[in-house]
Amino acid sequence: MEREHLIKPLLNQRYATVQYGKGVFLYDEHGKAYLDASSGAVTASIGHGVQEIIDAMIEQANKVSFVYRSQFTNEPAERLAKKLSDLAAGNDYWTFFVNSGSEATETAMKIAIQHWQEKGRHGKIKVLSRRMSYHGITLGALSMSGHVGRRRRFIPLLEDFPVVAPPYCYRCPFHMTYPECGIACADDLETAVKRIGAEHIAGFIAEPIVGAAGGAVVPPEGYYQKIKEICERNEILFIADEVMTGIARTGAMFGMEHWGVEPDLIALGKGMSAGYTPIAAAMVKDHVMEPILQGSKLVMAGHTFSANPQSAAVSLAVLDYIEKHDLAKAAEDKGAYLLSRLKELSDRCGMIGDVRGKGLLLAVEFVSDRAGKLPFPSANGVTSRIINKAFDKGLLVYPASGGVDGEGDAVILAPPLVITLDEIDLLVNTFEQTVHEVMLEVM
Ligand code: PLP
Repeated sequence: MEREHLIKPLLNQRYATVQYGKGVFLYDEHGKAYLDASSGAVTASIGHGVQEIIDAMIEQANKVSFVYRSQFTNEPAERLAKKLSDLAAGNDYWTFFVNSGSEATETAMKIAIQHWQEKGRHGKIKVLSRRMSYHGITLGALSMSGHVGRRRRFIPLLEDFPVVAPPYCYRCPFHMTYPECGIACADDLETAVKRIGAEHIAGFIAEPIVGAAGGAVVPPEGYYQKIKEICERNEILFIADEVMTGIARTGAMFGMEHWGVEPDLIALGKGMSAGYTPIAAAMVKDHVMEPILQGSKLVMAGHTFSANPQSAAVSLAVLDYIEKHDLAKAAEDKGAYLLSRLKELSDRCGMIGDVRGKGLLLAVEFVSDRAGKLPFPSANGVTSRIINKAFDKGLLVYPASGGVDGEGDAVILAPPLVITLDEIDLLVNTFEQTVHEVMLEVM
């Protein structure tokens, strides 16, 4: 075998080589079709090969692809920042553009800290988060992430920010039931604030719906209203990590709209460009920017490719496409259909413990004993088996961990929002065959 040069996720595995994509399908070098039931990493929300986006890309490339943001501003970036503010609750956000979700959450973290510094509150430097969470792979973002597997190697370098219990009703960390619990998981933020001291806390970050670290975990009604109230009372900025949930994925433009909560800062990525180019963003409310505008007048963040005109033009075209085709509504309607089909499937598959999610961000959690909600031993590698077997059958699904501390198995199903009902039926049938075959192996 020829020696390789590209570092891939698993270095002992042979990867198929993608040739092209169209709609919800990707095709490899042998012409095999794969139904992209995860939109890659919950990213390709408008499907592959959309001509309008390719046209917008070429149009901008014919003008200018790169400028350095300290030398020029550019029209696509200015328009995109305004567009995002128009789409978000309150319509009063500034935006700082970056290139990945990790940079977006880390920039939000830094701006939250800078906000308090500009007000002379230099002790407020921690950004609390939940144990079941993933906010990114760079060290600041990883400090805020509870994802056990991704943290492990770097623990000595990380801050211990994920201290709050997750809103995970399927296996409640407090062994309680909603609504009698009184949303104890939200009260856990208050407990952490009392222990650490609000004078040390700049912000609290949460994914509206937990993604990779839990598998589409939707909090109970009233949770975010309570979280926001605790944050406000303690002068803590609330950061919504909408990297996975943002831009129509859950049936609303922003996930937090489902709970009517306006975050002080928002991190965006993935669906912002639907994968056509790398771009992400930290959105910042007026009142958070105000002390910076009055003070140093300089946001201490940024990358060479920040506010890149090429990426901004692509993102604008993606947002237009999403609005033109009302893909937030499509996510709601098709998500309801896929969820109902998966619930039927769980009645026929003993190893499906839970089916959950919102819009087209759905997940299936696997258990060895449904009544006892017992996870499989990790040595069984159930998530990998499902992913690999589905792949062989031409179906792409995304790994997640179930369980409060990542001890469980789950996969995310989050196809492009343009998927048809027939394609959803194909997805479910292939997924059912996959689950049955894995069940025979592990049960
Ligand atoms: N935040 C959330 C909620 C995510 O799901 C992810 C990626 O999966 C990130 C942040 C990090 O984004 P990226 O992989 O683009 O750095």
